[in-house]
Amino acid sequence: MSRIRIEGLSKTFGHARRGSTAAVDSVSLDIDHGEFLVLLGPSGCGKSTLLRMIAGLLPPSEGRILLDDRDITHVAPKDRDLAMVFQSYALYPHLTVARNLGFPLRTRGWSRTRIDGKVREVAALLGLEELLKRRPKELSGGQRQRVALGRALVRDPGAFLMDEPLSNLDAKLRTATRTELAALHQQLGSTFLYVTHDQVEAMTMASRIAVLNNGRLEQAGTPSEVYDTPESVFVAGFMGSPPMNLIDARLESRGDRLRVTARDLEVPLEHPAGDLPPRDVVLGVRPEHLALVSEHTRGPLFRGVVDAIENLGNEEVALCSVGDTKLAARGPRPLGLQPGEPVAFTTLPEHTHLFDPTTGRRLV
Ligand code: ATP
Repeated sequence: MSRIRIEGLSKTFGHARRGSTAAVDSVSLDIDHGEFLVLLGPSGCGKSTLLRMIAGLLPPSEGRILLDDRDITHVAPKDRDLAMVFQSYALYPHLTVARNLGFPLRTRGWSRTRIDGKVREVAALLGLEELLKRRPKELSGGQRQRVALGRALVRDPGAFLMDEPLSNLDAKLRTATRTELAALHQQLGSTFLYVTHDQVEAMTMASRIAVLNNGRLEQAGTPSEVYDTPESVFVAGFMGSPPMNLIDARLESRGDRLRVTARDLEVPLEHPAGDLPPRDVVLGVRPEHLALVSEHTRGPLFRGVVDAIENLGNEEVALCSVGDTKLAARGPRPLGLQPGEPVAFTTLPEHTHLFDPTTGRRLV
């Protein structure tokens, strides 16, 4: 297993007419030995470009890539000791599973017996023993995905690079394969670098998540850190389903406390007034931290109207309008609300997040 260090990595694609755009913009990141790091972000944020640079499939415009302190920025992909697993699997259709698995070893000049031994070992690890004589077209999507992973495994690479390897699987198989991958990572103890736009994949498998937006690294942290303490409005609005409610608000001094005032809501904050002067803020509250209360309750309240109710099975989401702000509240089913009804919510100071409206960065 290896450590990957990325230093100020950028990739700019030139467009003859439209000038150039930075697909990856000065990203620095350390991926430790044995980590399962997930690169997460919306479509077009630069995840694949970053991964392809690390794999050596794209030359960076700027920056360095180090593998265990060895500068590999300009090293050929085959000499990087990294194995890439693609979304499309990239299996050879005319070769059996066994020969697909053994392919990287044949090109390395391994003997037939040695290859057979390694192929059997990896097939056993991935539950592919029964399928060794089949060709890719005789396999299900999930089985093909496992063969692609197996082909990376036989090489015993220092790290695995994976670009949305589960995106061609149906929802049920994706969930099962997620669990298998996490278990395999535990078992191998290898370094995994995994690209996805799916926050559930990231939350369930990652030891650390790096959130990308517009080519820039927004935040890197454990799943809990990224979910519980988002460093920016972008991360807050990307993580969670539905994502965090973000409300324009004002921080006002009252006595020795600060209060956030947004429409009908006042949240007393436990911070001394000296820390933050009165100012405009973006107030963030997760849908699960909006508690339904009676309209006549005193204290911090949002008052509005229910627009729609979404049934999630064990939970419900109430989509509401508070003035012209849309809020989502999530709780156990049934919430007992109907569209068109008046509604009131409260929240606790410790469940609020404050962001700078101009920079989008976290204040508290
Ligand atoms: P997705 O999840 O949709 O695959 P992504 O986050 O992996 O997206 P990239 O594929 O890395 O995003 O693309 C980042 C940006 O760079 C996009 O705006 C894309 O259009 C642009 N881009 C990627 N490859 C090229 C290329 N070869 N030439 C020009 N622009 C490119």
